[in-house]
Amino acid sequence: MGEIYMTKLDEILKDNREFVESKGYEDFSTSKKPNRKIVILSCMDTRLTSLLPSAMNIKNGDVKLIKNAGAVVTHPFGSTMRSIIVSICEFDVDEVMVVGHYECGMCNENTDEMIEKIKEKGISEEVINTLEKAGIDLKKWLHGFDSVEQSIVDTVKTIKEHPLMPKDIKVHGLAMDPSTGKIDVIVNGYEQ
Ligand SMILES: [Zn+2]
Repeated sequence: MGEIYMTKLDEILKDNREFVESKGYEDFSTSKKPNRKIVILSCMDTRLTSLLPSAMNIKNGDVKLIKNAGAVVTHPFGSTMRSIIVSICEFDVDEVMVVGHYECGMCNENTDEMIEKIKEKGISEEVINTLEKAGIDLKKWLHGFDSVEQSIVDTVKTIKEHPLMPKDIKVHGLAMDPSTGKIDVIVNGYEQ
């Protein structure tokens, strides 16, 4: 009794009201064009949420930041690639940085196990079968990659060779240590 239960949304909205009331936004004032003309494609890994901007000295307004599971372009005409093209053509971006990371959850993903987990969450065998009959290869779709370095090389290549990619745009491939933030250069876009 007496205990106030807050949902996750309540918590976020409470923090948000405090942020706006205390004018916390004043430190973040900027425009929508990225100051450093860079678009970064990185992974949604929680360890990188604040680490990546700090380790790369990126401030609000500096870059366009796109995130997904694995820092990959899975389809040349999907939303990730569209975001990159829009960054270049609408927001004056002239360099792309693919920032993958070691110990990525999308590396060596066990797709059989994941399909089991999907079923445990209440999705029926029938739905899975229907999708597969419709030609959707779920295992292939869920599979990430076997090597982070190779995935970074492949993603850089997909971006660089995209038919809508202007030829003068540099595309780099970087791998980050999720503990220290240290970056290894896998592909140096200036040498491509
Ligand atoms: Zn990851």
